[in-house]
Amino acid sequence: MMNTVTKNDKTHNRKIDIIDSVSSTLEPKKRVFVDMDNVLVDFGSGLSQISEEVKNEYEGRLDEIPGLFGLMKPVPGAIESVHKLQKHYDLFILSTAPWKNPSAWSDKVKWVTQYLDDVFHKRMVLTHRKDLCQGDYLIDDRGKNGTSEFDGEWIEFGSEKFPDWDSVLVYLGVK
Ligand SMILES: [Mg+2]
Repeated sequence: MMNTVTKNDKTHNRKIDIIDSVSSTLEPKKRVFVDMDNVLVDFGSGLSQISEEVKNEYEGRLDEIPGLFGLMKPVPGAIESVHKLQKHYDLFILSTAPWKNPSAWSDKVKWVTQYLDDVFHKRMVLTHRKDLCQGDYLIDDRGKNGTSEFDGEWIEFGSEKFPDWDSVLVYLGVK
């Protein structure tokens, strides 16, 4: 009798798995945009590798230091989190690069290629007008460059409600 119940349970669970996988392919995934600086990329980890002399030279415009973006490490939990999100959401990077630091534009592509090419390959928007992009969520630490005017929901990374990646995963139902 026990064996029958176990077998029936397994068959039932398998049916549910099949229904889940079919419905997930039929329903379009919600679109999530992810900012880079201080969301995926730890801005401070790049600065700590720059000499005081260069920092003084670029005071007030540190994001214009050539090659700075290539030195930055991932924010804790970011890499694992976007891999989890990728299974349930349509993911894109939505970032701004400094207009007066052209190397930052290419450094950002290189950074994504190095750390997250399997998630964001050819899925990257660099703009000063994030409000022009259409999606369901935008995970961003600042309201600048159109973020606060974004049509979908702004998940304010680093805020009291979303202090880290774990809290974002819980909110998006992935944890
Ligand atoms: Mg940012």
